[in-house]
Amino acid sequence: MLSVIISHDIACERREELKTHWRVVCRIAGESVENLLKKEPSAVEPKQSNLLLDNTEKREARIDEMRQKLAKSGHRITPQRLCILEALTQTSAHPSAEEIFADVHRVCPTTSLATIYKTLQTLKDMDEIIELEFSDGSNRYDGLRPKSHPHMICTRCGKIEDVEIEGLSNLEERAASKSGFRVDHYRIDFYGICGDCK
Ligand SMILES: [Zn+2]
Ligand SMILES: [Zn+2]
Repeated sequence: MLSVIISHDIACERREELKTHWRVVCRIAGESVENLLKKEPSAVEPKQSNLLLDNTEKREARIDEMRQKLAKSGHRITPQRLCILEALTQTSAHPSAEEIFADVHRVCPTTSLATIYKTLQTLKDMDEIIELEFSDGSNRYDGLRPKSHPHMICTRCGKIEDVEIEGLSNLEERAASKSGFRVDHYRIDFYGICGDCK
């Protein structure tokens, strides 16, 4: 009887997991969250854009990496946690905890804001996400690129984007060799007005 209950639980979790993965596919295909759960997986073909496929592969790879790290350190991979990982990786907009909560809550309504904060803290402790802290508490998160990198911050609309700047590569190694420090991470923010707000 116990094994039946356990396998039922696993089956339920697996189904949730598949649903979550299917949601990723539908998002890429431009389907709404409501429509996607009604359709069969074969009914929607992802758009064949290389950029999209590229991003999808990166996102799925990041989700897998985070899942493995969580599992290795003894954290249960619940459907709620999977939803959080997905919300963290589906945008390069550096979402806030509240934005992640709003996104997760649509699919996993049982997830609380406290669970979001707890999972974000766990992922941060494992160096699997970057937390950009701000003095007013409106912290933002990058789950796509857990290694330190420079950010552009719009002081008008709050948009945060990654920026590639030549000459800033190997910054940690260079700072470490100049100072004798062991460098764990760095933070470089450029503040200004974004293209949309100019
Ligand atoms: Zn702006
Ligand atoms: Zn970033």
